[in-house]
Amino acid sequence: MSGQNDGSELDAVAEDAFREQVRTFLEANCSRAGDRSGSIGDDDPEGIAAAKAFQGSMADAGLAGLTFPSEFGGAGLTSRHQELFNQEVQGWYLPTTPLSISHGMCLPVLNQFGTEDQKAQFMPDNISGASIWCQMFSEPGAGSDVASLSTRAVRDGDEWIIEGQKVWTSGAQYCDYGILVARTDTSLPKHQGLTMFIVDMRQPGVEVRPLRQISGGSGFNEIFFTEARVPVDWQLGDLGQGWNLAVSMLMFERVSIGAGSGSGLDADRSPGLIQTAQALGYRHDPVLRQGLADLWIREQIKGYIGQRIRAAVEGGRVPGPEGSLAKLNGALLARRVRDVSLAIAGSAAQAWDADDAGGDRWAVACLSTAGISIAGGTDEVQRNIIGERVLGLPKEPDPYKGAAWEAIPRS
Ligand SMILES: Cc1cc2nc3c(=O)[nH]c(=O)nc-3n(C[C@H](O)[C@H](O)[C@H](O)COP(=O)(O)OP(=O)(O)OC[C@H]3O[C@@H](n4cnc5c(N)ncnc54)[C@H](O)[C@@H]3O)c2cc1C
Repeated sequence: MSGQNDGSELDAVAEDAFREQVRTFLEANCSRAGDRSGSIGDDDPEGIAAAKAFQGSMADAGLAGLTFPSEFGGAGLTSRHQELFNQEVQGWYLPTTPLSISHGMCLPVLNQFGTEDQKAQFMPDNISGASIWCQMFSEPGAGSDVASLSTRAVRDGDEWIIEGQKVWTSGAQYCDYGILVARTDTSLPKHQGLTMFIVDMRQPGVEVRPLRQISGGSGFNEIFFTEARVPVDWQLGDLGQGWNLAVSMLMFERVSIGAGSGSGLDADRSPGLIQTAQALGYRHDPVLRQGLADLWIREQIKGYIGQRIRAAVEGGRVPGPEGSLAKLNGALLARRVRDVSLAIAGSAAQAWDADDAGGDRWAVACLSTAGISIAGGTDEVQRNIIGERVLGLPKEPDPYKGAAWEAIPRS
């Protein structure tokens, strides 16, 4: 990946020294996953403040943005360092969920497609957590078929004026900046008239309305743009290239959900499950043991898929359809984790004492699982991509192929 460090070999001494650096940091700044107490929601002000403070400490310790260039606020290390870091954080609770889109999707896109000025202006604060970013693709009439989106960007001197609506925007209520895809030319076919922009989320023309979910949280939002303004030099990539950049960003998202810590399941759930099963006396239950062993095996497979993707990235490629394999696998694994969790937690997943601060943890995790099969493209969409781009099956018929976006009927 351009600008990111390659995976050059580390000798054993350097590996041990880096592992020790990470362990020292974790012991000083984190709690063990199983010891997590209280139930501060990721979208609560306390959760956001904790994420920012923690990320700031990571940056001070030289552990933030590990593989991103040091001139733009990263640590300038290799993907092997990232792999070692991922291994060391297993079993620790890192309060970084509010930064997952900022770092999993927006940061790689800034690094890959930003101008030198954009990288210098935005990457250091993104990496240190001083600013948080969101991703604005989906609209009420454009989800799976995101290329049909209607939000308009019209040039006005040195600025673009944005009008329209986005939906399902994770974390927008606490974000400083967002990456937006908008239609800049309605006379072209739908994939060709799109451009990507950086948007200041704190301006008056951007209204963010949080949506309440079944889990009780407000993880995502509706966003209304009314004459919102974007300086022309905040355009990302070339005019009309928004679809290509969006596809790359979606692949970063799919890799982040399917092969990284984005699923939220690999880092702390499986060890937590085993501890809980032991504490509840299920240690010798053959069915649950089988279920836990199955999860462990699938986590290993997920790790191998991640390794394969990292190798492709080290070879200089933006993740391709293998990102869809990772995402689909991660979503299916998440559902299996949910089912085993419910079997172990039993009634505790549905009812808890009012004074049990973290008692809702199982219920929230189980209710949130369905979203993993939708975010970043549904399971059906991933299967379509794998069918067409990996297996070479025929594409779905499209009666409007090649037609101007403005000529396609929409409700
Ligand atoms: C937790 C979560 C976080 C999200 N965060 C963001 C975010 O930060 N930014 C953002 O822009 N969006 C975000 N989204 C939105 C997400 O990308 C969309 O919900 C998703 O792409 C599906 O779009 P849709 O909801 O409009 O469903 P639709 O596209 O209307 O799909 C409805 C159903 O039809 C099926 N379907 C549609 N087309 C096909 C097809 N061609 N073949 C087979 N089946 C098909 C789908 O699989 C689905 O089951 C988030 C969603 C969730 C759940």
